[in-house]
Amino acid sequence: MQDRKFRNIMATTQYRSVKGMPDLLPAEARQVRELERIAATFFEKAGFQELRTPILEAAELFSRAVGESSDIVRKEMYHLTDLGGRELVLRPEGTAPIVRAVLQHKLVAPGEAARLWYVGPMFRQENTQKGRQRQFVQIGAEWFGAGGPWADAETIGLNVRLLEAFSVNIDAVEVNSLGNAASRLAYREKLVGFLDKYAEQLCADCKERRQLNPLRVLDCKNQQCQAIYADAPVPLDALDEPSRQHFDAVCQGLETLRIEFVVNARLVRGLDYYSDTVFELKSSRLGAQATVSAGGRYDSLVESFGGPPTPAVGFAAGVERILLAREAEPAAEMTPDVVWIALDEPARREGLGVVDQLRAGGMVALQLFHKGSVKAQMRGANQLGARFAVLCGDDERARAVWAVRDLQQREQFEVPATPEALIRELRARSA
Ligand code: ATP
Ligand code: MG
Repeated sequence: MQDRKFRNIMATTQYRSVKGMPDLLPAEARQVRELERIAATFFEKAGFQELRTPILEAAELFSRAVGESSDIVRKEMYHLTDLGGRELVLRPEGTAPIVRAVLQHKLVAPGEAARLWYVGPMFRQENTQKGRQRQFVQIGAEWFGAGGPWADAETIGLNVRLLEAFSVNIDAVEVNSLGNAASRLAYREKLVGFLDKYAEQLCADCKERRQLNPLRVLDCKNQQCQAIYADAPVPLDALDEPSRQHFDAVCQGLETLRIEFVVNARLVRGLDYYSDTVFELKSSRLGAQATVSAGGRYDSLVESFGGPPTPAVGFAAGVERILLAREAEPAAEMTPDVVWIALDEPARREGLGVVDQLRAGGMVALQLFHKGSVKAQMRGANQLGARFAVLCGDDERARAVWAVRDLQQREQFEVPATPEALIRELRARSA
């Protein structure tokens, strides 16, 4: 607003942010901060502690965890080599780094559990669209040490409640089971048998998936492929008895939590590490990128990193999609309590100190150095929606007072010229 001139200058710059990596302008940054605050309080109540991992990790971490055949590892990661020749990547997701940190710092003692949450930017070289960026923020949770279906149900429940706390309206909670290792192997065989019959008709990506990781074909967005897969066997067809019981209990747990859900037998997740339960939360407000949050159980990942057998379950929600689906009014910009209006140059210097002390006293206080005349300063104070304008010039200085205008009540009064007296008076009038 008061920076129109500045914006015109900036609009002429030749520099642009990198494709798919938008700036968060103040109004958006404020919303993201609000989500982080809500998440921190929410997770604390559920016994989760925050863990922050670095943005750069060894490339190998993700090829191991997310899977060599996943889209992320095959084509989406940003790679770099450091001066020591180490192959690093900008992290594309949060789970593998958390598992690494859990093992590195021995955060889960045998027979114990660890509940961790995180928030931070992730990076993937994807085709950018609404709700699909190359740098995006995820808020996620990982729960180590708790096996069994009830932890799955609680995790799905936490994911739903977190989005409710964000005022995101979830239209569908979709759940599915991929089964334990034996069930997944049995399913893979069934699916490969089916795909063999259609090998020539599959899209190029699915031809590759069929070789590398057949399960992924179900996720294909190609219409011809989808028509073929309408008759494909699904993971639920191949669940063995323990996997079937696990999944039934997850569904019962969701009923206990009174969470409405649908079983989507075709739901498979884009990452390799899932076992048994997988789930996605969808919002119809999002269009093509309908999934706001997704997760599942990954009981073998910790072991595959060289750790002890440790059951685990978690989820990750995309902040940009949360903002698109959110129904809450974003938090309002801070309006100043006080704008200091300098009638002459000595008052500008004095204002420097007064504003500093008002802030220390808990008030939002500004001096508008970019405005010249008193009239311009007053107009600026009104435009900012300030409650009080505090004026100081020769006359006030001689009488050791400051003139105060209450811009809301349209009153004028004087206070002794000390920050303490000013704060006391303004507090009394604001109460
Ligand atoms: P999608 O099917 O939309 O590509 P995914 O299976 O790759 O999602 P996950 O890796 O499980 O998603 O990430 C969990 C959540 O993170 C997603 O539901 C979404 O909200 C968010 N997310 C993932 N990729 C992006 C992206 N490129 N831009 C914005 N948000 C994303
Ligand atoms: Mg994806």
